[in-house]
Amino acid sequence: MKHCPRCNQRYEDQDLNFCLNDGELLQELETSDAPPTLFMDPPRTTRENWAEPQSVPTSQGQQIYGYQQPQQMYQPPMSAMANTVADSTMPTISLILGISSWVLMCCYLGFPLGAAALITGFIGYSRSSKDPQRYGGGSMAIIGMVLGGISLVLTILFVILGVFGQIIGG
Ligand SMILES: [Zn+2]
Repeated sequence: MKHCPRCNQRYEDQDLNFCLNDGELLQELETSDAPPTLFMDPPRTTRENWAEPQSVPTSQGQQIYGYQQPQQMYQPPMSAMANTVADSTMPTISLILGISSWVLMCCYLGFPLGAAALITGFIGYSRSSKDPQRYGGGSMAIIGMVLGGISLVLTILFVILGVFGQIIGG
């Protein structure tokens, strides 16, 4: 099947190359149903996204909706991106403090750093569990809390053992 792009006349004859009415070069027409249905799909999905068309009641509604449609189409991906870039500052700080409390445990810095890691980890974890849309890094906060907590306990043990050692030694 061929058709003329100028007058839309259809020709069954495959050997025909030019329109009999206006001499326009004929174009091949797809006979399968696939292209038309594919073409119908996108408008249908965008119509579903329109969900709340009554929010902007104007006389030129149709024209305005035509322009608003792209904006509404872009909103879901943007909010999805905001979810992935949720604020995980506190968990990150907690993790860094937790690790550095281990590194600096020998200098008795495990105590303040471990305590700070515990506090920031707790804040970060409670935030991410209450409002996971805005705050992330819950698992990072847990690691920070565990690292900080262990080094805190170990530092206290070292201090106690050191004091005992001095008592016993002295
Ligand atoms: Zn024609």
